[in-house]
Amino acid sequence: MSNEFFSEFGCNERAYLMMFSHYVPCTLASHQCASLIGQYAAQSEHRVVVGYKDIFEDDKEASNEKKAKKVMIKHGALVIFPGSLATIARKLGFEFNN
Ligand SMILES: [Zn+2]
Repeated sequence: MSNEFFSEFGCNERAYLMMFSHYVPCTLASHQCASLIGQYAAQSEHRVVVGYKDIFEDDKEASNEKKAKKVMIKHGALVIFPGSLATIARKLGFEFNN
């Protein structure tokens, strides 16, 4: 897909990779999803944008929203906060509760 983008728009344009997730990419020890996305953002030619709505939590463990955002932002990802995501979704004509 990246190659198609560059052949269509040239190398001067920068592609964005936008991920919209119900939960903010987690900081759970068994996953470390936020760290993985941060690593990807640091080495990717794409700008990485992450949107989320909620923070994972169950009886056994919980993700740390502040740490998740920090590790992604530190490596250059743009994190869209829940309120912003809802506004963007509405502008695009999607139904979005909250
Ligand atoms: Zn995870």
